[in-house]
Amino acid sequence: PAEPDLEALQHADVAALLPVPAAESDKYRRGVVGVAAGSARYPGAAVLAVSGALRGGAGAVRYVGPAGAAVIARFPETLVSDQGPHRAGRVQAWVVGPGAGDDAGTVAEVLEADVPVLLDADGLRLADVGAVRSRTAPTLMTPHAGEAAALLGVAREEVEAARLASVRELAARYRATVLLKGSTTLVAGPDGGPVRVNPTGTPWLATAGSGDVLSGLAGSLLAAGLSARDAGSVAAYLHGLAGRHAAQGAPIGAHDVADHIPGAWRDVR
Ligand code: AMP
Ligand code: MG
Repeated sequence: PAEPDLEALQHADVAALLPVPAAESDKYRRGVVGVAAGSARYPGAAVLAVSGALRGGAGAVRYVGPAGAAVIARFPETLVSDQGPHRAGRVQAWVVGPGAGDDAGTVAEVLEADVPVLLDADGLRLADVGAVRSRTAPTLMTPHAGEAAALLGVAREEVEAARLASVRELAARYRATVLLKGSTTLVAGPDGGPVRVNPTGTPWLATAGSGDVLSGLAGSLLAAGLSARDAGSVAAYLHGLAGRHAAQGAPIGAHDVADHIPGAWRDVR
């Protein structure tokens, strides 16, 4: 039989993928996730990306960028560095881009690291396609339809009208795993195969900063050792459930979604 185009993500699959610390684990063995995000103009994006990263299974979150004071004020457990990514210390995965502005140097530096990298928001815009394609470690890209359209050089409506083809085309072009956000989120791998569809979520997630929380969460799962495809789909699943928990039919802010990730995790487990 022909391979199916789509694969719905099931509760039991997600449960089996959640990283659980072993009895003898320590924070380094659980994985360290680096977050290179935020700017003087958008310090909140850094705070939100870290808020997701702290709930994604990594043992520590390392932040590099100009919003360290804002991050520490909200999340004192964050390891903050004022050096660039190369000098920040060992990490098992990087998240780069939310609120990052025009810091192309940091994006290029992160792409040179031989660990999984998640590109979101400004990181998508600033990443050189050749630099992404030539990476040997996995890359996970998390565009919404507008960002995907900009990368493909088409109008947003074209992506909305052909979401499956668009996510596949981006994955092939960048030789990366691509998570296309929206009312249904799709995850496509670089080598073809079925595209995963996330069944959770709520339109209340259509709120500023919501994607920043998702990027931190997915990056943390990468640092904890999940493949790009699994990290992206598990993050989308948990983020959607956390949004439902947080909202319960009422408006929410993105930080509410982050606060409900542990509850979503308990539901799945
Ligand atoms: P961003 O646009 O980067 O802030 O990301 C928005 C997040 O909210 C993504 O995880 C989307 O999948 C999610 N989202 C946005 N709109 C909807 C919707 N109508 N239904 C479900 N999830 C949504
Ligand atoms: Mg976004």
